[in-house]
Amino acid sequence: MKKNVLIIGAGGVAQVVAHKCAQHNDVLGDIHIASRTAVKCQQIIDSIHEKNALKNPGVLEGHGLDATDIDATAALIEKTGSQIVINVGSPFVNMSVMSACIKTGVAYLDTAIHEEQDKICETPPWYANYEWKRREECEKAGVTAILGIGFDPGVVNAYAKLAVEDYFDKISSIDIIDINAGSHGKYFATNFDPEINFREFTGTVYSWQDSKWQSNKMFEIKKIWDMPVVGESQTFMTGHDEVHSLSQNLDVPNVRFWMGFGDHYVNVFTVLNSIGLLSEQPVTTAEGQEVIPLKLVKACLPDPSSLAPDYTGKTCIGDLVKGTKDGKETEVLIYNVADHKDAYNEVGSQGISYTAGVPPVAAAMLIATGEWDVKKMANVEDLPAKPFLNLLNGMGLPTRIKDANGDRALDFS
Ligand code: NDP
Repeated sequence: MKKNVLIIGAGGVAQVVAHKCAQHNDVLGDIHIASRTAVKCQQIIDSIHEKNALKNPGVLEGHGLDATDIDATAALIEKTGSQIVINVGSPFVNMSVMSACIKTGVAYLDTAIHEEQDKICETPPWYANYEWKRREECEKAGVTAILGIGFDPGVVNAYAKLAVEDYFDKISSIDIIDINAGSHGKYFATNFDPEINFREFTGTVYSWQDSKWQSNKMFEIKKIWDMPVVGESQTFMTGHDEVHSLSQNLDVPNVRFWMGFGDHYVNVFTVLNSIGLLSEQPVTTAEGQEVIPLKLVKACLPDPSSLAPDYTGKTCIGDLVKGTKDGKETEVLIYNVADHKDAYNEVGSQGISYTAGVPPVAAAMLIATGEWDVKKMANVEDLPAKPFLNLLNGMGLPTRIKDANGDRALDFS
């Protein structure tokens, strides 16, 4: 049994991770939250106490930490006796947190691919630029490192694995569709860190088509999908982490990612991008001050976690998988519907943070009990899907399936 969790970051997703760890501290043990701005850790701790979320009386502490400092991170892991680190800080800290985990021999989880400040949308597959270079190191140290265990990437990878395991002999395409039909009432806001959100869309859109990489521009390829509960939704083909692992790890010739955007988002994005305000490269003002436009835009936009109290509506995220089973053409949609208000009532967060924050806690529980403690680096599709999806069914993110036999809940117990 591995016990005691150190959460890195104290943003929107970390709030959900901390609440869910508290709800399951009988399995997970002590909970520590460490972030750059220590006061944000304390705010999360206060909200856990307000909701009486700790299942058992236990340790719940906050710490100030610069997670780019490997030695300081390793020292905190040792001081807190943490055996599982859930990294939901910015993707810029992934490699340093992973180094600290390898140094101390503890399990590592994250929810997004590592990024360097001055580079965007690097050569595909993205995982090969940083994470996969450290596979041997993890295996040698016996370190379990689970990559991209949010919702997308994360749960959608498990849906793809489930399709491979149970529903197909041969898969021809996986289309991952992410619709947020919620409304936050602000003129403009992003649902997670604006800097990371925009960086996903300002470079090349890579998709895996006919078993090779295809390059497009953002908002070049549009498609309307009719999804359960949220109905017909406008989406655009987008570059995304899971395309970069599923394309390499599953024998599937077409893997694409589609994200829903309203016309208003597209307009605002196009204006900001066209005039250079989404650039990650520094510019110098007439006064000689060096500014990174994207960081300035982030500073002006609402903090995504501040959207939670007024957010209404639902999300629908899933995998539309096509292929053959027993010689017949088959199609299944494996998906989840989440509700912004329900998330707020339970953990004080909006639905996007909720869908991203619950899965790493389920994964941490599977590491704690040994089922996913594989002692090497793994993407989610490398691991058995059912124990994970089974846990999520009882943790607020139930899985449903829609196929020729109808639309129904999937129960793996
Ligand atoms: P936020 O920006 O709200 O939170 C990030 C946190 O990381 C902040 O508390 C920030 O501190 C902290 N941080 C940044 N740099 C450092 C550092 N050097 N040392 C210590 N702490 C640091 O982001 P979100 O909570 O919205 O997202 C967190 C992660 O989850 C991101 O990687 C994001 O890409 C990912 N994500 C994944 C999803 C999925 O489904 N897979 C969906 C949504 C998000 P400070 O408060 O000082 O800025």
